[in-house]
Order: sequence, then structure tokens, then C-alpha cells
Amino acid sequence: MLTVEQALGEVRRRAGPLPARRRRLGDAQGCVLAEDVTADRDSPPFDKSLVDGFAVRSEDLREGGVCRLSVVEEITAGRTPTRALAAGESAAIMTGAPLPPGADAVVMIEGTRCPEPGMVEIEDLTLAPGAHWMARGREMRAGEVVLRRGERLDPARLGLLASVGRAEVLVVPRPRVAVLPTGDELVEPDQVPGPGQIRNSNATMLRALALECGVEAEALPIVPDEPRQLGEALRLGLAADVLLVTGGVSAGNRDLVPGALEALGVERAFHKVRIKPGKPLWFGVGPEREDGPGTLVFGLPGNPVSGVVGFLLFVRLALEILRGRPGAGPAPGGVRLATPFRHRGDRPTYHPSRWVAADDDGPTVEPLDWAGSADLRTVARADGFAVFPAGDRDYPAGGIVDWLPMG
Ligand code: AMP
Ligand code: MG
Repeated sequence: MLTVEQALGEVRRRAGPLPARRRRLGDAQGCVLAEDVTADRDSPPFDKSLVDGFAVRSEDLREGGVCRLSVVEEITAGRTPTRALAAGESAAIMTGAPLPPGADAVVMIEGTRCPEPGMVEIEDLTLAPGAHWMARGREMRAGEVVLRRGERLDPARLGLLASVGRAEVLVVPRPRVAVLPTGDELVEPDQVPGPGQIRNSNATMLRALALECGVEAEALPIVPDEPRQLGEALRLGLAADVLLVTGGVSAGNRDLVPGALEALGVERAFHKVRIKPGKPLWFGVGPEREDGPGTLVFGLPGNPVSGVVGFLLFVRLALEILRGRPGAGPAPGGVRLATPFRHRGDRPTYHPSRWVAADDDGPTVEPLDWAGSADLRTVARADGFAVFPAGDRDYPAGGIVDWLPMG
């Protein structure tokens, strides 16, 4: 049986960024850039007014008292000036319009009066050269790299790509995740379970966990523990980049998933990890696909909390790597216990816990009263999992343990 660290190593070894694809900007949100992007022109492309007002030669404003200038033209955004300013002249100018030659400052319209058509009076004579306009190329120069490969396309970066004319970019696409719930006992959430049946909570939950990682995810219909139907459903699931199978990976005689996966050519990387909950976790890689690498397949135990822990530890890491991120994996971060805790067991245990407070000594968590791997209700109150290493031990309040955050 592998340790968590060994299993993480196996996931890292088998996961790589998905092949880069061209995407329209509207479809690239959240994707990681797979190329460096340069500016195609200077920005701003001309000396540009930042306010509505009057373009002036600041030396004309040096005389005492109120200054009167003639207004030789009006330059609105999208227009270009027709002439240079001579001494005593100004041009009405709007935000975003090009400065006329000769002007070196813009007076805001609020500080001016119009005594007669073609004239402007300026009261504030303290205006310095350079006021209220932006020089050509101040933001970026043509040919300059403005975004680098590896950067995630958030709204500001998407806007920047649009501004440099990149309507399409090369990105690592978002992985597509399929969730396949297995089990004879399952019915969908909108149904009333019959004798011996329970509702399929895992598909909703695992899909939601995947969506929180910024990937595309769909839940497939429930498949019974029947070899032919299971094989067919898994075969369809192997079209995805990541297939999350829930249930059917333990040691029961209806746990058909590992055999069915291997029959489809999915190569097992490991089965079983020394953790609690979630020990029966299965991981492997499907055959190479026409349009991408082999599907990463996680067989998560059916108990909901086992599924959450398996996802947070291993699936989240795989998704990060597939989408072109470094894939840091779970970061061991110490939290303090708010209450004493007695741990018994020979496997590292991920115990649902909630934030109590963050005081000067750092974050503090309270392990919740938890009924084990089937108890999702308690996890719904938790902010994450306190990690207790293998071995019987009594932890005092204030004791430090690792932390696996939920989000
Ligand atoms: P298994 O891993 O198939 O042995 O299932 C372990 C436990 O998890 C059983 O009690 C199942 O009924 C339960 N279980 C399996 N699949 C799901 C599911 N999709 N949603 C909720 N519980 C499940
Ligand atoms: Mg089952």
C-alpha cells in the first residue's frame, strides 16, 4: 500500500499539461496561456487626452490673472487633429482623443468658461506640462512581451489580449472531467429510495468539486454493478481527460471497477493508499486518445467522505497539472487544535474540522464529532480536514497538525 506522498508522486509522474489549442478569447477564460504574447502597436497609439477639456501650450498660461485663448477646433475621440497649436491657441478635446501638435497639457473642462464662441477662459494657471494626457507608448511598446506562457487568463488579461488584437490565443485547454457513479443501490436525487437504496450524492458533489477547480465537468448516469453495462459506461467515460468513477473499487464481490478498467486497457498506477478515509482509491491511465493523452482515471471509494478526501488530495493535483499549472499539491500547513483530540489508528487520518478563529498564534481548528466515511453531513459543516499521522496519540489543545483545506 502506497503512502500519500508516494501516491502523489505517481499522479505527478503520469499527469502533464494537455496539448495546447487555439481558442477564441470568449472561450479562453481560466485557461493557461501556452505562448508569449507581444503588443502589436504602441499603447496608447498616440499622445492621448485623459479628460474632457482643452489642449493648450502650458507656456500660454504663465501670465498673471485669467488666461483667454482662442479655440481653433474640436477633437472628439476617433478624430485626428488637423493642425498644430500656435501661441494663444487651444483645441477643445475629449477623453481618448489625440493631442494636437504643439500642445503639452490639457485643462479639465471644469476649470474653464466659454465667454463667447471660439474663446475659452482658464482660471487655474498652475497647469504643468504633461498634465492630463498620456504619452504614446506609455502603457506598452510595439513588440514588447505583455503576457507570458503559464499565466492564467483572468478577466484583465483577457482584456489585455483583446487590446493587442489577439482574438485567438494558444492556451492549455480546460480539462474535461466526467463523473461516473456506480452501484446497484443508487437512485438519483429526485427519486425516493426503495428498500436498500440510497441517493447518488457523489456525482453532484464530485462534479461540483471539479467545477471549483475551473475545469469542465459532467455527471454521467448511474451505472449498475453489472459487467457489460459497467464496461460500456467506462468506455464512454474514457473520452474525457479525467474520469472519476465512484464506488466499486473496494474488496466486495460487486466491486468490478478495477477489473473492468484494466479490461479496457487502462493501466493501473496504484490501488490503495494508506489514508483514512479513502484507502481503496484506484488510479490509472487509459490508452492514448486521438485528440490527447490517455485519460487519467481515478476510482474513488463510494463513501462520500472518502471521495472528498481522495479528490482534494489527488484529483485536484492532477487537474492543476493538466491545465498547465505547477501543481503544488497539498501544502502542509500547521494549524492549532482548539480542543484536545484522541487519535487511534494505523493510517494517517483526515478528520473533518472547522475554523474556530485565527489569533496571534495562527489559525485554530476544531475537529468535529464525525461518524466516519459515510458521514457527509459533518463534512458539510467543515472547512477542511485536520491531518493526524498514523499511531495512537493524545493531542492537547494547542497541538499543531497539518491541514487539508476544502476550497
Ligand atoms: P462502494 O465503494 O461501492 O463499496 O460503496 C461504499 C459505500 O458508499 C456504500 O455504502 C455505497 O452505498 C456508498 N455509495 C456508493 N456510491 C455512492 C454515491 N454515488 N453516492 C452516495 N453514496 C454512495
Ligand atoms: Mg458499490
